Amino acid sequence: MKYLEGMGIIVTGASRGIGRAIALEVARRGADVAFNYLKSDAQAGELKAEIEALGVRALAFKADAGDLKAVREMVTGVKREFGKIDAVVNNAGLTRDKLIMMMSEEDWSEVIRTNLTGAFNFSRAAVFNMMKAKRGAILNISSISGVVGMPGQVNYSAAKAGLIGMTKALAKEVGRHGVRVNAMALGFIETDMTAALAEEHRNAARAMIPLGRFGKVEDVAPTAAFMLSDAAAYITGAVIHIDGGLAM
Ligand code: NAP
Repeated sequence: MKYLEGMGIIVTGASRGIGRAIALEVARRGADVAFNYLKSDAQAGELKAEIEALGVRALAFKADAGDLKAVREMVTGVKREFGKIDAVVNNAGLTRDKLIMMMSEEDWSEVIRTNLTGAFNFSRAAVFNMMKAKRGAILNISSISGVVGMPGQVNYSAAKAGLIGMTKALAKEVGRHGVRVNAMALGFIETDMTAALAEEHRNAARAMIPLGRFGKVEDVAPTAAFMLSDAAAYITGAVIHIDGGLAM
């Protein structure tokens, strides 16, 4: 069912992984999709073609989510092309896992800049358009690391917890203007990010998951699309766990 037909949606960090799956899912549901990425030109080109093959418009931007000027330019470009911005999925993210004794200032700031400041940048750039339209949805892709904290991830856990705080604060700020703001706290999902974990760590994590497996991007994308739809019209400030029961 094309329940997002006519919508213009931004998905950040969509060249790979979860962002790519969300971009394709919302396109399948009828939305025009604009996305950005950092380095993966070939994958971004392929995604743009795949979205267009679904019969909707696609815009690809090589734009660093952590750079407010680049984000503003992208949002202006999307507004010009689509005529509006109905939703933003703040998904761009990265990890630089280390114990705190080994963590450099750069490991800290790069993770905060991409995962947290990136979401601020897109929200800052797009929310006024949504408030004026009296309609909009922002979905922040957080992590159970931000809910329960993970050793080796003080930077990432802080960024993802920050996203949850930002979600709730912004939801309270803009709810009366018709804009909904929600977060998803994801558990271990099979992507390049989790493929980089040591096998020993992956096995230990799997043993703690009540559903007994890592999630797939297909376990995430349909819920993301639902959260942007009118069927979720009365949901704001929520943190939806998609984690196989890991952080209950
Ligand atoms: P991934 O496979 O590593 O993909 C990350 C995506 O983000 C890529 O498209 C990458 O672009 C883009 N990106 C990174 N830095 C960027 C920047 N500064 N500006 C623009 N784009 C940028 O990661 P993933 O597993 O799909 O993760 C997606 C989101 O889910 C992240 O926020 C992550 O923290 C969150 N999450 C993931 C898991 C998991 O288990 N996988 C669990 C909880 C939360 P390039 O291809 O150009 O590098």
